[in-house]
Amino acid sequence: MILDGSSIPEGKTFDADICVVGSGAAGLTLALDLTRRGIKVVMIESGGLVFDGRSNQLLEVEMAGRTTETLVKTTRERFFGGTTNHWGGVCRAFDAFEFEPHPWMPYSGWPISRADLDPYYASAASLLGLPEVSRTFDAKALGVADRPRLVKEGEPDVEPIIWRRIPDEHLRMGQWRRQEVETSQLLTCVMNTSIVEIHPDASLKRIASLEGRAFGGHTLHFRARDFVLCTGAIENARLLLVSDSVVKGGLGNEHDLVGRFFMDHPANGISQVLLTDPAKGPTQEQFLAKSELLGWTTTPAARAKYHLQGFMSWVWPRTLAPQPQFPQELAMSKLTGLPTDKRDNDQPRYLEIVLNWEQAPNPDSRVMLSDKRDIFGVRKPLVHWDVLPQDLASAHKSMELISLAVARSGLGRVRWPDITNPLTTGGGHQMGTTRMANDPKQGVTNANCRVHSLENLFIGGSSLYPTGGWEHPTFTIVTLALRLADHLAARVKTP
Ligand SMILES: Cc1cc2nc3c(=O)[nH]c(=O)nc-3n(C[C@H](O)[C@H](O)[C@H](O)COP(=O)(O)OP(=O)(O)OC[C@H]3O[C@@H](n4cnc5c(N)ncnc54)[C@H](O)[C@@H]3O)c2cc1C
Repeated sequence: MILDGSSIPEGKTFDADICVVGSGAAGLTLALDLTRRGIKVVMIESGGLVFDGRSNQLLEVEMAGRTTETLVKTTRERFFGGTTNHWGGVCRAFDAFEFEPHPWMPYSGWPISRADLDPYYASAASLLGLPEVSRTFDAKALGVADRPRLVKEGEPDVEPIIWRRIPDEHLRMGQWRRQEVETSQLLTCVMNTSIVEIHPDASLKRIASLEGRAFGGHTLHFRARDFVLCTGAIENARLLLVSDSVVKGGLGNEHDLVGRFFMDHPANGISQVLLTDPAKGPTQEQFLAKSELLGWTTTPAARAKYHLQGFMSWVWPRTLAPQPQFPQELAMSKLTGLPTDKRDNDQPRYLEIVLNWEQAPNPDSRVMLSDKRDIFGVRKPLVHWDVLPQDLASAHKSMELISLAVARSGLGRVRWPDITNPLTTGGGHQMGTTRMANDPKQGVTNANCRVHSLENLFIGGSSLYPTGGWEHPTFTIVTLALRLADHLAARVKTP
């Protein structure tokens, strides 16, 4: 059932077994999986069923440190379905290596392993309509084995990667799951209502209720046995921090960790692989880029050898279009007014590749609270995003390894942008502000996604990630939500 909070009378209290805040990838997956097991859920969503300027206004943040408008301002959506209303649907499970501690990366290592997630990755793949959990690049199966390859098989430092994209009918989660929510007898979704504070009980060990503010300004209350915040990495931290009327410094923040270790997948510019002999016809990578998403990453062995963080480069699909001139030549021709070269064949002369990389966990990159307030009087987030010299050095070395591998094939040379470019921006993948760790002094949440110091407050989404890997985050967000549903369902059955 879907209700509009703005037309519910002031002061109403909703009761459920479990209360989920946010209806994005994490919240929708969790709430619907719980109802499938007969559990009564109330889900609160700040926005409406479609984009609305009022809820969008609530996304405003203040920026400190490395300021980039696009990092947080245009990369989140605040209505039913959350940011899946404009995501790309590219999926890849985190490789086992990402969960392990890396001695060269302080604060790395997850309290769970890939094996713990395997069954849930399988369920997530089937839910999202993906044919498998992890796809391997198999030139024979892909029908391109007879073509030359830009990064040859057996290269020690670089390997090809190939992604799956969610089928169109499952891409916009708010659209394809809306009917399930509307017709559910066990799920009540209260829209146009923002949670503004989390209230602990007198013991300070449990959450008693959530306070919501509907458009119109009236207050609604939500009570449950367990509560889960699924509002994205910035808002999850913000909600814990603003809930400070009883516990100074905010909830779960005994060790001053809430909001710290904020990470993204920095992205900068487009590189080119200049083909040695374009007339020879498309390489495997060019040929496949017509229909597949593919690229290269550094191998775990190379990462251990050179102390690298995760790195990926994608082959940009438009690479396949005829390219009469390089962009630089076109720009130069515009500046000088001189005509550009004429090309005598329409074979692509270069591939474009896009770079994204992992950041080292950094406690000083963080979400804090600004003194400015939103329309409900709640303090806005103040985001201080850092890119460390170590991040840049790692990206630089990774790009060098890819360039060398391409050069060794004899088929091309890589021209890449200045990795230190101050325009480097985030990839729309905010992570890490309520990181998981077994030790409460190292992380806000435990291996079951529960806030260490609170018996019934849980977190969903990529704010849980201790490290960000190079893989896209959302397949793992959905996977963790299914795992959390299992855990919460078992708790509900325990008297
Ligand atoms: C342009 C772009 C492309 C992307 N492409 C990919 C991709 O190809 N692959 C990939 O893996 N990831 C991609 N992502 C990232 C992906 O969109 C996010 O990882 C994912 O949507 C996060 O899910 P979530 O449920 O944690 O948060 P969200 O989807 O952001 O949902 C959070 C929900 O909480 C609600 N909310 C927030 N605060 C409150 C409050 N106080 N009270 C009530 N409700 C609240 C919001 O309205 C929202 O509905 C992309 C992101 C962008 C910006």
